[in-house]
Amino acid sequence: MSLPRLVKWLRIASWTAFAVCIVGQAFAGLGFNPPIGLYVALFLSVFLIGTATGIVQFKIVLIERDWLLGSYETLLRCFPIWVVLLCIALVVGIVVQALLQPTDSSYLGLALGFALQAGALSSLSRQPWLLIKHACPNGHEVNFYNRFCPTCGALLPRSSERT
Ligand SMILES: [Zn+2]
Repeated sequence: MSLPRLVKWLRIASWTAFAVCIVGQAFAGLGFNPPIGLYVALFLSVFLIGTATGIVQFKIVLIERDWLLGSYETLLRCFPIWVVLLCIALVVGIVVQALLQPTDSSYLGLALGFALQAGALSSLSRQPWLLIKHACPNGHEVNFYNRFCPTCGALLPRSSERT
């Protein structure tokens, strides 16, 4: 599967799981506790999607880039502002719930995990040049952050100017 498609499907999976978390939380709030299996499945999904996202991220920045800087430029730079606001609302919700119903299993924490992942994946897909293969004018494969071709030394356009 190509990287843009993988990122798209991971993003859809994150938002779907996010919706399930909110529905689960709504049911729990009404007094109908969903089966514990649902909680476990969502918990595992956070790790699975997170691992897949981490592998995509690693593939993009490889080992030549500083991990923190690379993560800012890829996962955070185009993080949608409305997802930031959603995450802040979820944190407030988690704190309120912890104060009011400290014993209930919270789906909001899982929802926060999925929202963060979906935002990071959106950030990746808003920078499509991160996800496609690049070549220098002479056909050598280069990374998006290369300013010169490592093979022949040709000057390369900036990554965001490449199509
Ligand atoms: Zn070259």
